[in-house]
Amino acid sequence: MLAYTAGTSDVPMLGETIGANLDRTAARFPDREALVDVAAGRRWTYAEFNAAVDDLARGLLSRGITKGDRVGIWAPNCAEWVLVQYATAKIGAILVNINPAYRTHELGFVVKQAGLSLLISAVSFKTSDYRAMIAEIGFPAAIFLGSPEWDALPSDEGELPADLSFDDPINIQYTSGTTGFPKGATLSHHNILNNGFFVGELVNYTERDRICIPVPLYHCFGMVMGNLAATSHGACMVLPAPGFDPAATLAAVTSERCTSLYGVPTMFIAELGLERFDGYDLSTLRTGIMAGSPCPVEVMKRVVAEMNMAEVAICYGMTETSPVSTMTRADDSLTRRTGTVGRTMPHLESKVVDPGTGLVVGRGEPGELCTRGYSVMLGYWEQPDATAGAIDAARWMHTGDLATMDADGYVNIVGRIKDLVIRGGENVYPREVEEFLHTHPDIADVQVIGVPDAKYGEELMAWVVLRPGAGPLTAGQVREFCAGKLSHFKIPRYVHVVDGFPMTVTGKVRKVEMREQAVRLIAPGEGEEVGR
Ligand code: AMP
Repeated sequence: MLAYTAGTSDVPMLGETIGANLDRTAARFPDREALVDVAAGRRWTYAEFNAAVDDLARGLLSRGITKGDRVGIWAPNCAEWVLVQYATAKIGAILVNINPAYRTHELGFVVKQAGLSLLISAVSFKTSDYRAMIAEIGFPAAIFLGSPEWDALPSDEGELPADLSFDDPINIQYTSGTTGFPKGATLSHHNILNNGFFVGELVNYTERDRICIPVPLYHCFGMVMGNLAATSHGACMVLPAPGFDPAATLAAVTSERCTSLYGVPTMFIAELGLERFDGYDLSTLRTGIMAGSPCPVEVMKRVVAEMNMAEVAICYGMTETSPVSTMTRADDSLTRRTGTVGRTMPHLESKVVDPGTGLVVGRGEPGELCTRGYSVMLGYWEQPDATAGAIDAARWMHTGDLATMDADGYVNIVGRIKDLVIRGGENVYPREVEEFLHTHPDIADVQVIGVPDAKYGEELMAWVVLRPGAGPLTAGQVREFCAGKLSHFKIPRYVHVVDGFPMTVTGKVRKVEMREQAVRLIAPGEGEEVGR
């Protein structure tokens, strides 16, 4: 049996624009809460939210913004981000998400590459002075949130356009994975509205759900799996804080009585590690989503058991596919809900291919995961060569992720193609070793990388974050723990105890940077313990 599956569903896809979908939801649930910005202490019902979106949309039109224009948003999570997302969609302007962590070089690149007509920006966030950086790159058309200009923008005059198509591009998200030059994944209404809708369907959202969204809005995890899943079901978007703050997140779950909580694995680990963890009332939680990077089984189990998230799902995907391609279902067994990334989403197709030959491999065999269907981006913005390198002639998106698919269609991500470690000719999938080390009682989090080695080509190194109060932990102890349980070539030679990993803002571990640091750490003469 070949590693190919097609996701079926009795629920048809949505054939409408994001604006039309929001109008329908607002008509169905006008008095239900749509959005809560906890840090700002502000809240909107669907009727209020849709009216505010329409006013902002008309304000943008009056600034001369029309269909197809690119409008940048550069801000941490806040209600205005969400308003801008829907207001641009209502007039067919293309929202360009700008990473809040960007500095002038990256900002300058994106502003130019996307050809922004307007940049809506926060004044500052953490150590970033956005106003100064925008001045430095000399971009003239910026509106700052909270400024008199921003406050004067909404307008109740003018007509919203009726000539929008759901296949129009509506969003550009710059992505470089964990390395490389940023490319602008260009997504249509159809791409992201349907993806958000089906994510919401699979966690059974209704107008009674309240979703705590601590993940960044500038990434699909926030604006699609959070916002669009919510607004396509009449559920409420709860923004706990501008940037990720574990205590503020759990406080928001408690005070807003959230039913669903999102996070990348490291966010859940931080929440579970809070000193006052037992002081939060998580009894209203029912579900949630963990995604964005490999989700360790042990962490999933703790989320189910200690955070009351019995129905928590794992999603797998990437920006270029809107993002979710596979997902666990509420009725999957606990083993499958914690140990796989689920099955192909409704109306999508998945296959696993041999990266060398391009042929579909058998079930259980590792290869590159590919996705096809409505979720595949229109392309990289004005980078046809990069697009052609990612999406093949048959419209399959090649993900660069290594996966296996079992007999029942459940997918397991075994790593990035680039992260595969080849030690003495043996392929080692770091994920497998990481999962095993997660079972060590002293280990809170772990990442495994390959480092250069004269004898074996590459050797394994584990970076370990200890649980509070645990340790010290030596390389010898780690190897002893693995002995007899893992093949010898999968046992890490080096162990590096750290407080955290180099991460992207979306919670992806930068293994490339870890490898660079590791090369310096294991300079000749160093022992097997490195760091602390
Ligand atoms: P991004 O485009 O920033 O969303 O990054 C997409 C990448 O994140 C994928 O290609 C995967 O390498 C990784 N990823 C996302 N979700 C998962 C998951 N559930 N398990 C493992 N890796 C994941």
